[in-house]
Amino acid sequence: MSTLPDPSAGAAVKAADRAHVFHSWSAQGLIDPPAVAGAEGAYFWDYDGNRYLDFSSQLVNTNIGHQHPKVVAAVQEQAGRLCTIAPGFAVDVRSEAARLVAGRTPGDLDKIFFTNGGAEAVENAVRMARLHTGRPKLLSAYRSYHGATAAAINLTGDPRRWPSDTASAGVVHFWGPYLYRSPFHATSEEEECARALAHLEDTIVFEGPRTIAAIILESVVGTAGILVPPAGYLAGVRELCDRHGIVFILDEVMSGFGRTGRWFAADHFGVTPDLLTFAKGVNSGYVPLGGVAISAEIAATFDRRPYPGGLTYSGHPLACASAVATINAMAEEGIVENAARLGEDVLGPGLRALAERHRSVGEVRGMGVFWALELVKDRATREPLVPYNAAGEAAAPMNAFAAACKKSGLWPFVNMNRTHVVPPCTLTEAEAREGLAILDEALTVADTHTV
Ligand code: PLP
Repeated sequence: MSTLPDPSAGAAVKAADRAHVFHSWSAQGLIDPPAVAGAEGAYFWDYDGNRYLDFSSQLVNTNIGHQHPKVVAAVQEQAGRLCTIAPGFAVDVRSEAARLVAGRTPGDLDKIFFTNGGAEAVENAVRMARLHTGRPKLLSAYRSYHGATAAAINLTGDPRRWPSDTASAGVVHFWGPYLYRSPFHATSEEEECARALAHLEDTIVFEGPRTIAAIILESVVGTAGILVPPAGYLAGVRELCDRHGIVFILDEVMSGFGRTGRWFAADHFGVTPDLLTFAKGVNSGYVPLGGVAISAEIAATFDRRPYPGGLTYSGHPLACASAVATINAMAEEGIVENAARLGEDVLGPGLRALAERHRSVGEVRGMGVFWALELVKDRATREPLVPYNAAGEAAAPMNAFAAACKKSGLWPFVNMNRTHVVPPCTLTEAEAREGLAILDEALTVADTHTV
């Protein structure tokens, strides 16, 4: 710990937070945010001396861990040289960040439009698709998360869209594959894949192919459950898009930059979209940054016609410097390979072993450092440990599970009836085993809520 615990300083931080900070996604009167004093690698700690193994990577963004010295130094060096410059100028650090991102994205996604985060990347990707095709509609999957701004929250396929969003036109949702709770009553991955593609094709036909600008999907669904698509699904969507002149957008804001054990999750499936959105892992969130990687064909649409988008801070030099240092460090230190190895040798087998020991675990799924344990009350019926719309009393089992993790020094990512195991890509094997041991203990608490 580079910052010594000081409980009185922590109390002052908390008091000022409660008085003046309006927190996202929260009922302000019902929260008690922990005060964080510092962080390093896979750990962060509070002012009372509690140290947590960060199995959430914050919001699944610290792929390179906290306070990576090369990234910290790069931001400091850039701040000393050029803190800001408008997006309209060519500047070394922005060109280099774009070159490095384009070098990692699949296929001909060689032009990079920088944003300040993931939702803004999604907003711009759908605007590019609409301008490129001249069509209005957007298709996206239920059980998805694309961000909290206007178009992005409408594309998001979960119950958090707020009532006024129903006014926004042009978004149509469809069901993606999810064998454990199959919307298609399928019993095998092959069947789920075939039925999901047939359902999507029906949706396209009934909506009118020539009205659809884009289909947007997460390559591996993140927030909504770490849903790895069956072999052939993304290739099938690619084929449907090609057949109907629809732009294919893959949202890799969460799954990109090493999380799945490859630079991008699309790499596992050999699929190249027309537009790819990224953020989070591009620089581990050290400075806000995201972007859209654009195909040659769509980029050419804007060769003679202005692209109507961009913000004051797009492609900010400090953010770009952190991206350059992050991508270089990931390559030099074999961090993507580390995530792949951890998934195959430690987390995958370790989590499956937990499922054998604990009757609250209904399913284990994932890859790399991108896993979910789906917790159930009853393995036979697959009834979720917490009903999806439950609050208060009914949420207690998952709260008790999370509290047990925290008490033993692990910070979990808990969403509805799932815990996502999403540590940094830099996690060591020893840290992974430490986390698995804590999960093992905490699952005994979840087990007490099963039938
Ligand atoms: N897209 C995906 C797949 C995400 O997981 C997220 C955030 O979790 C977003 C978009 C939105 O990113 P941001 O919160 O940076 O706006």
